[in-house]
Amino acid sequence: MNCMEFRRISLEDPQHMGDEADQHLEQCTACHTYYRGLLQQERLLEKAFAIEVPDDLAARVTLRQRLEEQGDSAVTMLPTRDNVVAPVKWRKWATGFALAASIVAVTLGINLRTQGNPAQIAQMLVDHVEHEAYTLQLQDAVTQGRLAYTLNNVDIETLAHLGGVTFAGNCLIEGQLAAHLVVQTESGPVTILMMPNSELRPFDYSSADATRVQTVALERGSLALIGPEAVDLDRVRERVISSVRVLRI
Ligand SMILES: [Zn+2]
Repeated sequence: MNCMEFRRISLEDPQHMGDEADQHLEQCTACHTYYRGLLQQERLLEKAFAIEVPDDLAARVTLRQRLEEQGDSAVTMLPTRDNVVAPVKWRKWATGFALAASIVAVTLGINLRTQGNPAQIAQMLVDHVEHEAYTLQLQDAVTQGRLAYTLNNVDIETLAHLGGVTFAGNCLIEGQLAAHLVVQTESGPVTILMMPNSELRPFDYSSADATRVQTVALERGSLALIGPEAVDLDRVRERVISSVRVLRI
């Protein structure tokens, strides 16, 4: 099993990944660290879903869900004051409510540090890229389906075809779910991190090792580009921004 497969499987159900994934976890330090972060996020979400909700919320959600998907059995797992979601089952419930999860994440105030200086934030982003360095090596373009799925997970809609994407996956950046893309250019791979739940200060920073890091504000949240200085990051950025739309909640 490679790192990409591992991360896909771990996002589906981190607590029951199967033997192959467990083996990979033992052998791969990068995935091990990633997995620890993922479990932390799981715990946060679990806590978030244990928060008391208005009495009629379950009824409202159930009604809406029934209208949308008639007869879906997952609908029965709804948290109310009398019916606290069992830890193992919460995920089933959560699957259909990614939007709710991101609202909770924001209201809990676990936002990315917005006050750090550009050098610090740039370093954090570069570390993230290095941490997932295998993503820079991939050469085959991902399918548009894969790309759309990755972006949808963070409430971003694809408006136009975005070519040249060789990696698309969701990962955690400082505890916030992000879309992590890699685009291959003639001058090297560019990493694009879309973070609708993190307000990063906009900056354009060149690090000592000729890596350029740029952050820009989206309609909601931030976008970061990390790539070699030789790459025309502005062009990549414009191409990305014109092909996606951040959905407002
Ligand atoms: Zn990542």
